[in-house]
Amino acid sequence: MKKALVLTLLLVSFVFATGCSTQRDLVTLTVSVQGQGAAEPEGTDDFVKGSIVELKAIPASGWQFSKWEGDVAEPFSVQTTVLMERRQTVTAIFVRQAEPEILTGPGGIITWRADGSPVARRAQGAADIEYIMLHAISDAAANPGNPYEIGRIRDIFDDYGVEAHYVIDRDGAIYQFVPDDRIARHAGAGTWKNDPQLTNAMNRYAIGIELLGIGTRSEMKDVIGVLANTRVKASDRGYTDAQYLALDQLLAHLADRYGIPRENIITHHDYDPGRKWDPGDLFDWSRISC
Ligand SMILES: [Zn+2]
Repeated sequence: MKKALVLTLLLVSFVFATGCSTQRDLVTLTVSVQGQGAAEPEGTDDFVKGSIVELKAIPASGWQFSKWEGDVAEPFSVQTTVLMERRQTVTAIFVRQAEPEILTGPGGIITWRADGSPVARRAQGAADIEYIMLHAISDAAANPGNPYEIGRIRDIFDDYGVEAHYVIDRDGAIYQFVPDDRIARHAGAGTWKNDPQLTNAMNRYAIGIELLGIGTRSEMKDVIGVLANTRVKASDRGYTDAQYLALDQLLAHLADRYGIPRENIITHHDYDPGRKWDPGDLFDWSRISC
């Protein structure tokens, strides 16, 4: 439906642009910036009435994109569009990149596991940190109606023999469970870019971040079981605005601290596409500005 509308509008714009374009058929778009960053396009320009203009926000160093003000399609996406049915005024809002507030995970920092084994330090300490891996975790298998109790995370880690460095809850609170310079068990088996050093060994090089989140029905059916899957509320699937903001801050902070390039921020699904779904199709990369 949306595609058909866009096609129609493009067709209308084309007819106007080629056939009978006059001054009357043009409408003005004004794009400005608040905070430090740039927008594409920026300034004031005329567009054919009915056309769709693509917008992009580019934060300056030390700043992050917050949102668009104005009548855009996706106010929280770095890239969005504006439909020029009429004169439009749009503002890209950037906010100073704040250092994320990092809380201690309920149950305390894990340096010894429930089974008595130590969480080993990375062989070269923080110098080994080269990747960040994004995951999703929830309590939906056991509690599909109430899957996001942060106090349950430590139990889930213990039950499944895993742990991650950070967990971001639905309100955007960031909890640390494992110190960055220790090897948490979050990546498991997998491969990346055919690099033998990374095959089944990503835990040594990656910081693991779990978002409290649940994927689509089809992604989850083999993960939490059919019955639990039917009991998950639609509103509990996917990720929240607060989580994207917190994740963006945490990624910027970690990438800066450890010199991690953007292409080294990957998902669990990237590493092990055959077995791992997370964070899945509902995760929106356009919400991440770093
Ligand atoms: Zn995962």
